[in-house]
Amino acid sequence: MFKEKVLGLMEQAELQIEGKLKEIDRVIDRNQWKVIRAFQKHKVSDYHFAGSTGYGYNDRGREVLDLVYADVFGAEAALVRPHFVSGTHTIGTALFGVLRPGDELLMMTGRPYDTLHKVIGKPGDGQGSLQDWGIAYQEVALLEDGSPDFAAVAERITPRTKVIGIQRSRGYAWRPSFTVAQIGEMVRFVKEIKPDVIVFVDNCYGEFTELTEPTEVGVDLMAGSLIKNPGGGLAATGGYIAGKSRYVELASYRLTAPGIGGEVGAMLGTTRAIFQGLFLAPHLVGQAVKGSVFAASVFEQLGFTTHPRWNDPRTDLIQAVQFTGPEHLIAFVQGIQQAAAVDAHVVPEPWDMPGYEHPVIMAAGTFIQGGSLELSADAPIREPYIAYMQGGLTYSHCKMGVLTAIQNMMDRGLLS
Ligand SMILES: *Cc1c(COP(=O)(O)O)cnc(C)c1O
Repeated sequence: MFKEKVLGLMEQAELQIEGKLKEIDRVIDRNQWKVIRAFQKHKVSDYHFAGSTGYGYNDRGREVLDLVYADVFGAEAALVRPHFVSGTHTIGTALFGVLRPGDELLMMTGRPYDTLHKVIGKPGDGQGSLQDWGIAYQEVALLEDGSPDFAAVAERITPRTKVIGIQRSRGYAWRPSFTVAQIGEMVRFVKEIKPDVIVFVDNCYGEFTELTEPTEVGVDLMAGSLIKNPGGGLAATGGYIAGKSRYVELASYRLTAPGIGGEVGAMLGTTRAIFQGLFLAPHLVGQAVKGSVFAASVFEQLGFTTHPRWNDPRTDLIQAVQFTGPEHLIAFVQGIQQAAAVDAHVVPEPWDMPGYEHPVIMAAGTFIQGGSLELSADAPIREPYIAYMQGGLTYSHCKMGVLTAIQNMMDRGLLS
């Protein structure tokens, strides 16, 4: 069990964040009801859960799933499929769906998430990336304070600018995530300049952390992963695209083939878990957000810098903590792994991951491989020694993970 000192930290944190946890409960309640109302509206029924095989023609469960997702996100249409292999795949499919050679993609929230760099690619890279297909790319860096550089965005918009991209979550960068209200402001700003531009949002890690989603504030197209928030820990794989009907349709032609789109695709027995995961998602996302708030509070008590701070508004799952040296990062990540129900006997070590310039250490004791609605943590071993944690299917697990990590640091003499 935990040392007195560690338990004391827990009690103090729980006192500090009590009001914040109540606020999160309100978000859970409202989002839970929103999801249930969408199920009811479309009369979700047991027979919808039956899987389909082969072409998957007339799979009513799949059709209703799309309708329910569209309603929950306040979008005209959605495409929810186990055939998406990851978040990157859904984002790539959405972008390739609407962009054509000669068009330009403008990212207005700085450098996008790592896995998208190869989707954007380079002209003539021979990989079939966006730029290889003759789609131009620009990105506007965020300002010093982490806000979008509106003046620079206005300057860079040209007649070729077809899509403006926004990444909601910080991902693994020390910058603020963008709330849905802030995304709404970005939409208003760019549509004022170019009304027909398609605003795309990478919504990964954001779903159900707030009461509304980007498609409810004017975003035309967004995408996310089912092994993150909206899969509710139950969807074993998959992703979604939601937005204006025409754009979702174009994306569906890219996922399958023109003329086929979303009308086919066997669900192979995944439908029930995807529905049930969506039903659970508001609650589980709330558990994970509570876990992040708890972690921030505890690490702030210990004198570390956190981002966001415990009391900041939240729009995603990620909690960053800045430590003082590599030993802290390793003790933290190993502690998170030790508290897992799955693979707790495995000791993560820093390794040279392909595509990264520094060794990275990762904790992922998860039921779904790489599932990051489950408690997980990552840290590149480099200054300024930032660890990123996210997820947690139960708030208790998040707390136990954080306390185990702290005890680990104490045992190694890194904390007094
Ligand atoms: C997770 C994530 C992605 C996609 O990652 P996959 O590992 O391909 O699912 C894209 N953008 C952000 C901000 C993410 O958090």
